[in-house]
Amino acid sequence: MARSVWLRRKAASEVGDRGASRSRTQSRFAAFSGGQRGGDGVLSLNQSTMAELDEEEQFYRDTESIAFPKLDDRQLAMLEPLGSRRILQRGELLYKAGQRDIGFATILRGEVEVFELRDGQEQILATAGPRDFVGDVAMLMGTAALATARGKADESEILEVPADCLRRALVELPGVSEPIVRAFIMRRRRLKRDHEFAGLRILAEDGSRDGHQLDDFLDKNHVPHRLIDFQSEHGRALCERLHLVRRDLPALITANGLPLRRPSLREVAQVVGLLRPLAREEESEVTCDLAIVGAGPAGLGAAVYAASEGLRTVVLESYAPGGQAGSSSLIENFFGFPTGISGGELTYSAQLQAYRFGAKFSTPAQALALTLTDGEYRASLQIEGCDANLLAKCVIIATGAEYYRLEAEGRENFEGCGVYYAATALEGRLCRGSTVIVVGGGNSAGQAAMYLSEGAEKVFLVIRGDGLAKSMSSYLSRRVAAKENIEILSNTEIRKMMGGKVLEAVEMENTKTRERRTVQTPAVFSLIGARPCTAWLPPEIERDEKGFIKTGQPVAGSPAWRGRDRLPGPLETSWPGIFAAGDVRSGSVKRCAAAVGEGGTAVEGVHDVLRTYK
Ligand SMILES: Cc1cc2nc3c(=O)[nH]c(=O)nc-3n(C[C@H](O)[C@H](O)[C@H](O)COP(=O)(O)OP(=O)(O)OC[C@H]3O[C@@H](n4cnc5c(N)ncnc54)[C@H](O)[C@@H]3O)c2cc1C
Repeated sequence: MARSVWLRRKAASEVGDRGASRSRTQSRFAAFSGGQRGGDGVLSLNQSTMAELDEEEQFYRDTESIAFPKLDDRQLAMLEPLGSRRILQRGELLYKAGQRDIGFATILRGEVEVFELRDGQEQILATAGPRDFVGDVAMLMGTAALATARGKADESEILEVPADCLRRALVELPGVSEPIVRAFIMRRRRLKRDHEFAGLRILAEDGSRDGHQLDDFLDKNHVPHRLIDFQSEHGRALCERLHLVRRDLPALITANGLPLRRPSLREVAQVVGLLRPLAREEESEVTCDLAIVGAGPAGLGAAVYAASEGLRTVVLESYAPGGQAGSSSLIENFFGFPTGISGGELTYSAQLQAYRFGAKFSTPAQALALTLTDGEYRASLQIEGCDANLLAKCVIIATGAEYYRLEAEGRENFEGCGVYYAATALEGRLCRGSTVIVVGGGNSAGQAAMYLSEGAEKVFLVIRGDGLAKSMSSYLSRRVAAKENIEILSNTEIRKMMGGKVLEAVEMENTKTRERRTVQTPAVFSLIGARPCTAWLPPEIERDEKGFIKTGQPVAGSPAWRGRDRLPGPLETSWPGIFAAGDVRSGSVKRCAAAVGEGGTAVEGVHDVLRTYK
């Protein structure tokens, strides 16, 4: 399969658009940094820009063979019984942008071209000849196609495998699944880097909160898109062409070019195919072996194991798979990634893995209530926007915890690059020799301040109240007070965070005197507590004093366990068959790897329970 636009240099007309994903924003701005706008609005590229463009081209060249492999006779023979042959005439559509659950097509003879319609103009993305196949991860996930494919030769013969058969093949036929899945993932990576691919577009006013939310939602769900300022030249032209006025914003321009005015996240999720109907209209109940609530590292870990081990698995996620980890720009302590990996990339790969094994995801689909029973289906879940109840033989609750966030202006710009929620050796190294700020009056803040004071030049411990006596153990508060390079700032709150790509300074206010001061710092440690996402659970699921779910030995005496011939498994809750994994669990280690491990361990417990049904 040959690519065309994917190697072309960036069009200067896109400089007015703001990239959607962080990586895209960085690369787009990097591509033009140092460039000068000429009188005609076209950037003149300097040497470093050229070098970056060469690097981009190098990336496309290096990944070409992974993205566009040809299937050999053996692989074609494996796929043949799963599909059917079809003749495609020139111009005849194979699938259309926006279409979901598209089948997998391999070209046997002739040529097929893939294109997107951008502002009424066709952009050819790729052409595929004999032994090539078309598609990307949308095929794996069943989400909406980003582009349209049609016959290019007078007559092409293709082998078409329906979507559900393809997913089965990807699990059962490793010889064919490996090149296909690798190609799908690589094609998406290439597309995301491609500055000319329009994908979905959000048209919003600069700084609009709703526009930002759409941007964040698509970004965290890995849907290629870009954010366009409606006041830019491009934005104004789009508004005019699509008859959009200010009150229609933010608007989403879908893959087939049609605008959605002020869409809700659910509407957006429906259009892009993230929100999958769990039940048909006439159904009031749907069943599964395992319902996993929450798709952070724990839920995704559980989904990979459960689906790969043949359990009918449904994953409910209220916002975007990845959870807290998805918002971490670089996880450096996850084993196997010596130079670190972005949380988004790590969890996206896990999600694709779970898809490949057949787990069904629904996003956004918040679990609203859990009703417990003692039959084969232990639980009935009520889900946001779904009329039918989901009956599950077992449930893994992996809803994690939400760290309380500092209400300081600009804080969201520095998550993971200046604002941290733990002070480990990693963060300690990052701020060695600097002035750092720890916020919080509890033991975790005290420990962090003590720990950081070993390497940092100065630690400010910022607390809202008058002193540490009420909230911190006395031994610890004495140590903190005695440490020369820790200064306690009581009655103080951070108001503003400032910097470029990373945090550089914060502004604090003494709430008694109203005096403000600015401190230069690369790191703020926010240790003001985390709230477990458990408010939706019934009282039968016992929790500790902070709301985290109790499991294992501590719930062995719970009413639902009395008189049973087995004890609760280590991750089983006070209701048999209902498990908790990851940050939501009382006593869990609040770390990514620990959460993944607990997800897998909980699945072991699920198997034990299901065996008791036989
Ligand atoms: C900024 C940041 C950086 C971090 N960096 C690191 C690091 O470098 N290394 C490390 O090991 N750990 C790190 N952590 C901690 C790590 O991310 C967490 O320990 C881990 O994500 C916990 O995983 P989890 O699956 O248990 O919960 P979460 O990640 O919290 O995931 C829970 C998921 O459940 C969903 N959910 C909640 N309620 C519902 C509901 N009712 N219905 C459906 N879905 C629901 C949420 O939307 C979320 O996606 C970091 C955390 C943050 C916030």
